[in-house]
Amino acid sequence: MMARATLGGMAPFADSLDLGRLQLSAGEGRRLDLEVGIDPFDYGGQRYAVEPARIPVRLDISRTTGSGFALRLRFDARLDGPCMRCLGEATPTVEVDAREVDQPGSGDELTSPYIEDGELDLRGWARDALALATPAQVLCREDCAGLCPVCGEDLNEVGPDHAHEPEPDPRWAKLSELKLD
Ligand SMILES: [Zn+2]
Ligand SMILES: [Zn+2]
Repeated sequence: MMARATLGGMAPFADSLDLGRLQLSAGEGRRLDLEVGIDPFDYGGQRYAVEPARIPVRLDISRTTGSGFALRLRFDARLDGPCMRCLGEATPTVEVDAREVDQPGSGDELTSPYIEDGELDLRGWARDALALATPAQVLCREDCAGLCPVCGEDLNEVGPDHAHEPEPDPRWAKLSELKLD
């Protein structure tokens, strides 16, 4: 069942929003504080849950001249999944500030994929905007030391002194066998 915000006792939890029902005239704007749920998403080969289950979002809607809309969506969400360096738990907070313009009849570049027949797909937009705002490297902490490339130990736990004897160079081994008279 999709939650849908309606005018008159605006439901704060919304997957989609009927923009036409706001009955904004050209140049008029409206700010809505809503809540949206975002499904877990795959990123960099890992899966990340998105918290909280109901994310408070701020949606600014402006009616443009003609029958278009300019939208701005802002929210913070916390990801929960593996650190890309050490595979421990990473729970970074991602700040999202996304904009969309939908201006029908003005050419392809000004139509939003999230607006169809005046209906805003808030859940889809929020998910994609979050994925775009997520850093390329999701880390447990900024200076995560990662795993030892030789033995796979978590370098955050074993400490900076962790090291391995360098493998003896086989050419030196051969040399040491030579008997020099
Ligand atoms: Zn890490
Ligand atoms: Zn090691």
